[in-house]
Amino acid sequence: MILGIDIDSCGRCLHYHNENDIAALLCDHCKKYYACFKCHDELCDHPFAPVCIRNTQPVMCGQCKNYLTYEQYQQHHCPFCQANFNPRCELHQHIYFRP
Ligand SMILES: [Zn+2]
Ligand SMILES: [Zn+2]
Ligand SMILES: [Zn+2]
Repeated sequence: MILGIDIDSCGRCLHYHNENDIAALLCDHCKKYYACFKCHDELCDHPFAPVCIRNTQPVMCGQCKNYLTYEQYQQHHCPFCQANFNPRCELHQHIYFRP
């Protein structure tokens, strides 16, 4: 399940809704998948907590709902359904992941 504001069936949200904005990110504090950190921070009482890159399921593909490792997510496309992810999410790398 992907949480967020105005999310569609693939996990696009109010803030990020381009064709390839479909990766959902895990918050290490509440352990839930959110469409983006802005959605998370508006809906939760704590800031988005970055997840360790060694976590086995830090990302969920919004199209096929499979869980991805950090390494799989870094390929910028889903290994299960081949959907492309937005490479510009790397701008927010430090918000979503920690070493
Ligand atoms: Zn959280
Ligand atoms: Zn959002
Ligand atoms: Zn997929």
